[in-house]
Order: sequence, then C-alpha cells, then structure tokens
Amino acid sequence: MFARPALEILFFTIVFVISSCSSDSNRNAGPSDRFDFFVTVEDSSSIIDPTLVAYFRDQQPAIENVLNNLFSLPERDINIVYQDCMVENARYLSEPSEIIMCYRLLAAITNAEDGIYQQGNAMLGMFNWITWHEIGHALIDHYDIPSLGQKEDMADSLATVFFLETSGSNILARVKRARAIVLVGEYINTLNSGDLRWADAHTVSPQRQYNLVCWAVGAERNIENDANIQQIVTELKAARRICPNEYAEKKAAMEELIGAYLNIDRGGNL
Ligand SMILES: [Zn+2]
Repeated sequence: MFARPALEILFFTIVFVISSCSSDSNRNAGPSDRFDFFVTVEDSSSIIDPTLVAYFRDQQPAIENVLNNLFSLPERDINIVYQDCMVENARYLSEPSEIIMCYRLLAAITNAEDGIYQQGNAMLGMFNWITWHEIGHALIDHYDIPSLGQKEDMADSLATVFFLETSGSNILARVKRARAIVLVGEYINTLNSGDLRWADAHTVSPQRQYNLVCWAVGAERNIENDANIQQIVTELKAARRICPNEYAEKKAAMEELIGAYLNIDRGGNL
C-alpha cells in the first residue's frame, strides 16, 4: 500500500513565467495555439492502488494547465491517457495523437528489485519522467523536429530537460527529480541486461543509463556524490564526457528547435 502522496505536485510545477496571451507580443508572432493537451485518468482494476489513481486525478487539472500554458499546439490535440493496458509500457501514437501511460508500468517499477523505488515516492517521479519521454515523442512529431540521431535519444533528452526545468524554484524538488532520472536509468538497465538489443531503436539499456546519469549530474551537481552513481560518474569522467556541457547543449538545442512553441517569458528560468 502506498501512502497517498501529499499535496506535492511531483509532475509539473510552473517554473516558467507564463506569459499572458494578451500582453506577449512574442507569442502573437509565433505559431498559433489552436489545440490543447487533455488528460484522462481511467480506473484501475487492481493493477495499482486506488490511492494512486486518485493522485493522478488530483493532478489532472494541473498537468493540463501547465502543458497548455507552456506549449503552443498549432495542428491538433494531444491526449494523455492513464490506464491499465495489457503491457508494462508507455507509448505515443501519432494519429490520433495520444500518449498511453500504463498503470502496469508503474506497478512494475514499484515492484522492481527490492522496492527501493518506493522510497519517497520515487516511483512516481520515475513514472513522470517516462511521461515526459512520451511527451517528447509527441513534440518531435507535432513540431517536426529535425533529427540526425535516433528519436528515442531525442525523447530521452527532451524528457530530461523538461522534467528538470519544470521543477520550480525549489532546489530540493530539482534534486529529487535528478535522482528520479538516475533511478529511471537504473531501472531501464534492469529490463534486458542479459539481452542487449543492438538492433533496437532505443540505445542499448546500459548506455541509456550512463546517458541519464550524465545529464542528471550535469544539470544538478548536488547529486554528484550520491553513492549509487559513483562508479558511473567515475567512468564518465574517464571517458572524458563533460556532463554539464552535455546538459547545457541539450537545453540550448531544445530552445533553438522548439522555443518558438514555448509560451515563456524570455526573462524566465529556461
Ligand atoms: Zn520512446
């Protein structure tokens, strides 16, 4: 059983200074915002605890508000649906534009390993990063973001940047999210560690873990000394990866590629 998360908003906190439609000339000059994100939270047939379904229902208006205030959608709506599903997965479908977040995935994360993901509701942070990964796919699709690499890596990058940059001004929230990203990497690496899928569109699981740790540490130095990532951090340094630069490059690329669709005050935090 889970303690129902308190009033903490784990998913999105408005960090951006949202511009009002009427006063922001930048927005008027940018892409039209004719469509919206919609969030549907379905019941669960005992896949997850009802308190978690209630949690997502509580969050539903905030998720919609933040997404709709942040992003312009000029072409069509994006629906986010939380439901049981038959698989432990999450996915984005282009037509109609829909993100499916499966409760089975949340249950799998919660039950994995020795239950460490339950600590401090870490599994919710992990699940929310995965939601951002799927939103990343939706943004790539809707905004026709050009790519010279795999879209799965782009989705990981977009998820990490948005998950961290929407954590609000509270540094503890940002640190908590950075740690959740590390745990996502750890979880991904447990999924098929004995069967590396070299032909897959996803980067192989161990490297995804190294990437996520690098970007999380690069964005948030406060987690650099966490015991569970010391080996990886050492190896990243030995490989001469400069993680703060990697994160900064991703954030800058995101702004360059889709900044026109973001309704933010340019004096804001992004
Ligand atoms: Zn993906």
